[in-house]
Amino acid sequence: EGSGHANIGVVGLAVMGSNLARNLASREGNTVAVLNRSRSKTDELVGAHPEAGFVPAFSYEDFAGSLQRPRTAIIMVKAGGATDAVIEELIRVFEPGDIIVDGGNALFTDTIRREKAVRETGINFVGMGVSGGEEGALNGPSLMPGGSDESWTTLGPILRSIAAVAEGEPCVTHVGHDGAGHFVKMVHNGIEYADMQLIAEAYDLIRRGTGKSPAEIADVFAEWNRGELESYLIEITAEVLRQVDAETGRPLVDVIVDQAGAKGTGAWTVQTALSLGVPVSGIAEATFARSLSSHPEQREVSRALPGPSAESAAQALQVDDVDAFIEKIRLALYASKIVAYSQGFDEIRAGAAEYGWHIDLGRIAAIWRGGCIIRAQFLNRITEAYAATPELPVLLTAPYFVDALTRAQAAWRDVVAISARAGIPAPAFSSSLAYYDGLRAERLPAALIQGQRDFFGAHTYKRIDKAGTFHTLWSGDR
Ligand code: NAP
Repeated sequence: EGSGHANIGVVGLAVMGSNLARNLASREGNTVAVLNRSRSKTDELVGAHPEAGFVPAFSYEDFAGSLQRPRTAIIMVKAGGATDAVIEELIRVFEPGDIIVDGGNALFTDTIRREKAVRETGINFVGMGVSGGEEGALNGPSLMPGGSDESWTTLGPILRSIAAVAEGEPCVTHVGHDGAGHFVKMVHNGIEYADMQLIAEAYDLIRRGTGKSPAEIADVFAEWNRGELESYLIEITAEVLRQVDAETGRPLVDVIVDQAGAKGTGAWTVQTALSLGVPVSGIAEATFARSLSSHPEQREVSRALPGPSAESAAQALQVDDVDAFIEKIRLALYASKIVAYSQGFDEIRAGAAEYGWHIDLGRIAAIWRGGCIIRAQFLNRITEAYAATPELPVLLTAPYFVDALTRAQAAWRDVVAISARAGIPAPAFSSSLAYYDGLRAERLPAALIQGQRDFFGAHTYKRIDKAGTFHTLWSGDR
């Protein structure tokens, strides 16, 4: 037992696990043990990559035996029951002090539960968010490990060696204890949903407003990618819009069915935010927009609902100055994006408070600069904001963002008004603006809601002019 020479192991050799194993094997000093439930995937990987020097295992006993102590294994299997099954097997063959890392997309509450259960055996359990898809896994992902400080001591150097590098820094940090890593990965995905939806709304407005072709709009996004919006998502948007369908010769985006799928991490982000009482309205709108798109039967029966006439839509769009219109949309996109990130970081802050994690928000922004889907220059501004004010209660109130919002707000309002008048849905643009104005408001109509609550449920209210809780004897009580 434990006499093996591999310093790290991977369990689960579908696309993510294989690529992560290859990434690990390509780094100096690593010998990687590999195990998969069905033997064929192991044979395939080891056969295709003799240069990697993999140590194949065909049973959990073999696998444990091939690893140096403390044993370290990364699980990359289907999230859910499969992860529990693999953990159970590993606990059977591992010993106290060994480390089990779950790199799947686990729900953070599952990770909290697993960490607690595994800890009782003396084995360390680390839930780790892995971002960047298969390409990231192979060439450098953004890694968000949770778990104990002790496991981080062993894992840190290995993870730093395989992570993406942004401006000379590996995109990995010890996020916080138990489920913190998977929590942060979840919010990353929620922000990704919002970012994608905002880009899609910008595209739709430009297309319907200016009549530009997808290829022409690709040029707009390519241009935006040279400015403050520079990001992986803007970059790939240009490529998607430029793509021509080989079969029909039409823009591919016009051939793709307009129903967006989801694997559930956006919904988790929103569900968790609801429980924490954090208004991640942009992420929620983005998630709901995917749901709306995916109900063809509802869309079919709704197509005849009245909307603005073609003339009034055209009048609303008034795109006599196409460049000015596009610039307004760019500013609206940037402002709404700031809101989405601000809301996401608000959720991380609230999650950390609720679950007792010490999360360095500025570091989170820094490790998202490379490897992951939302990688962008913009994240440096978030790191700077938290470096200046670590306890910043609302990210978008940092000076840089206030400047950006000041520049953008008139255009942002115009775009939301135009889309409403033209009958073009822009749920993420408009909800972001409503959130922004809600934050800014001196008084909110929440006072009226408290009055209503006290009226029908004697829920009481507070007064602006003296301390205490009050209840009014409403006429409805008599
Ligand atoms: P996947 O399709 O999610 O899962 C397939 C793997 O799980 C196979 O190795 C399969 O083994 C194994 N498996 C399924 N049930 C099992 C069980 N009961 N016991 C043991 N092994 C079992 O693979 P993936 O796309 O590579 O993703 C792996 C993990 O990474 C997932 O949690 C996923 O959510 C996460 N992730 C994926 C991405 C992405 O872009 N794809 C990005 C980040 C994170 P067999 O070969 O024997 O069937």
